[in-house]
Order: sequence, then C-alpha cells, then structure tokens
Amino acid sequence: MNRGSVSADERITFNRHVFSHFTDHEYIPCENCGTSLSWADRETHVCDAERRARFQTFQVRHELAAFDRQLDAFLETPARRFAVYYADRERRRRAA
Ligand SMILES: [Zn+2]
Repeated sequence: MNRGSVSADERITFNRHVFSHFTDHEYIPCENCGTSLSWADRETHVCDAERRARFQTFQVRHELAAFDRQLDAFLETPARRFAVYYADRERRRRAA
C-alpha cells in the first residue's frame, strides 16, 4: 500500500475526528459559492456554476461599483474627449 495515498473513506473519517466539535447540524458556507453546507455535505459538495458566478460577483460588488464611478469620472475629463477623438480618427484612417 502506498503510504502517501489516503482513501476517501480515510479522509472522511479523519475530518470527522478532527472536526468532531462540529456537529452535522452546524452549517458552514462553501467558500466558493456561499452555499450552506453541513460537515457531512461538505465532503461531497460540488458548486453550481451559476451560483458560484453570482456569489463571486457579489463579493466584488464594491470593486465593480468603484470601476463604474471611475469610468463616470473619466468620461467627464478632457482625457475622455481626446480618447474619443483619437479612436474616431483611427477608425476613419483604417476605413480609408
Ligand atoms: Zn460550493
């Protein structure tokens, strides 16, 4: 037997022993999707892709809001007017 490998049953037994102060009635959130999981469910949980995407978007909501504020501020600057002018000029140049 390979001493480095651990079967799934051994891992579950180990986790139950180590984390025995948590009961199966206590729930923890999945760190990837936020779903509440019992310690027993934690072993077999597979994240739902859509839920994980929503959860991760929720986690970065402040960063997304900051980006929108920064974009709004940029759109009010002379740099924005130059960027629009330059993009338009490049577009016309390529079309010609
Ligand atoms: Zn999950």
